Amino acid sequence: MKWDVIVIGAGVIGCTIARNISKYSLNTLVLEKSSDVCSGTSKGNSGIVHAGYAAEPGTFKAKFNTISNPLFDQVCKDLNVEFRRCGTFVVSTIDSGINQLEELRIRGEKNGIKTELILDKKKIKEMEPNLTDDANGVLYASTGGIVSPYGLTIALAENANMNGVEFRFNSEVENIEVKESSKKVMTKEGEFHTNYIINVAGVYADKISKMVGLDYFKITPRRGEYVLFDKETLKLNRPLFPLPTKKSKGILAAPTLHKHVFFGPNAVDLDDKADTSTTTEGIEEIIAGGLKLLPNINLRKIITNFAGLRAVSDTNDFIIEETKIKGFINVAGIQSPGLTASLGIADYVIDILRDSGLELLEKESFNPRRERPISLTNFPNEKKHEFIMKDQNYGNIVCRCEHVSEAEVIDAIKRPVGATTLDGIKFRTRCGMGRCQAGFCTARTVKILSKELDIPIEKVSKMGPGSELFVSKTKFKSVWEDKK
Ligand SMILES: Cc1cc2nc3c(=O)[nH]c(=O)nc-3n(C[C@H](O)[C@H](O)[C@H](O)COP(=O)(O)OP(=O)(O)OC[C@H]3O[C@@H](n4cnc5c(N)ncnc54)[C@H](O)[C@@H]3O)c2cc1C
Repeated sequence: MKWDVIVIGAGVIGCTIARNISKYSLNTLVLEKSSDVCSGTSKGNSGIVHAGYAAEPGTFKAKFNTISNPLFDQVCKDLNVEFRRCGTFVVSTIDSGINQLEELRIRGEKNGIKTELILDKKKIKEMEPNLTDDANGVLYASTGGIVSPYGLTIALAENANMNGVEFRFNSEVENIEVKESSKKVMTKEGEFHTNYIINVAGVYADKISKMVGLDYFKITPRRGEYVLFDKETLKLNRPLFPLPTKKSKGILAAPTLHKHVFFGPNAVDLDDKADTSTTTEGIEEIIAGGLKLLPNINLRKIITNFAGLRAVSDTNDFIIEETKIKGFINVAGIQSPGLTASLGIADYVIDILRDSGLELLEKESFNPRRERPISLTNFPNEKKHEFIMKDQNYGNIVCRCEHVSEAEVIDAIKRPVGATTLDGIKFRTRCGMGRCQAGFCTARTVKILSKELDIPIEKVSKMGPGSELFVSKTKFKSVWEDKK
């Protein structure tokens, strides 16, 4: 079989592109080296839908940030993904900071973004009561917002899959052969033929481009570490940015949609494209940075830390183009604000495909809607009771911190592009994301995965082959089983 389009990489960019392509009568395949969607940078970021004042005017970053931000309301409505347009603050705590805020405001204007410089300390405190008393001014961008980056990516993939796009996981692209009539994409799981390849492999996009002999950019992984605080540690209405540095937007303090607060990220260039470890120095750096904005937060409430890798290209801008190899499209160097820019980038890639001569016939059957999975914790007790009466698995709580039931875990496995790992369950249901960080639910989730996927317990993994949790049974029959 020959595919019309092969997308390499199932991060937020690959999944947005896949969903856009699913509007047309095309056979599309997404190849992903990990065992699930959203296994790369798209799961380790700040989840902020940027207003668009920060990017250098005239760059792709500025263009696609500005185009994409207003699209979030409709897309998130269609996909049933929560999105909150809570606005963002850039906070000055030094006298010279006000000039910097004004420069950012002017930059925003150049990008077509309206922001407001607020110097009234009383008004600032009213808007953000827990912000440091040292704040002498803020730049308020009312169009900024927050979204769950994995929630969005999973929803995009589900919707693309419902509309016909096929996903293959554990399928690392190892080589690509370009012939005049077609392209052969090689993985250990098999070879795939196509005319069009879209390279959205994140920090590995330069490696994929080299496979077709195009060695014209380099991607450096720039790590950003985070600490996450327990739910309701402190009320925060919107993300707070410090004054930006040359390298990044600085270490911020921000809320998540699930009432957590996080500090981070820092910015450290690495050689290793897989190094998402966290470090003592890094954590100290981000805590010090976060405390400048929220000095009264209780550090004992930190429940976990994590890191993500920005894909920084040596052009320092997004690279989005059909290359000199017809039908080979690079979508590379998609660092921040890539999550925000994803929607506009995907529309642009459709234009590239059209301009390249791919016939795009709109499908009447395309359904932009995706039903939201039931999340028991969001319902009042009477409604919970109704669910349990219909399906007793709703009465079996698997994750106590986040109140996730067995029925929700089973649903996460059975949905389109369903979960096959513990992380897959975690990112779809929040099972394991609470205070105990999977101490209680792991054993229960493992059993459900084993049963529903019909695999032995020893094959259940955290995030795909190589991360299995169990080696073998220590007893063939437990004493308890004997007594029964
Ligand atoms: C610390 C940090 C904070 C950020 N904060 C924000 C923010 O607040 N707002 C915002 O807009 N943006 C933010 N970003 C940027 C945003 O996260 C990224 O732009 C976006 O996630 C990039 O998505 P992607 O799909 O290009 O990459 P990825 O999510 O990395 O996806 C690439 C995929 O390709 C797969 N792959 C790689 N090689 C192969 C291969 N050979 N074969 C098959 N598959 C392969 C990978 O496994 C991966 O799943 C942040 C980034 C970082 C690191």
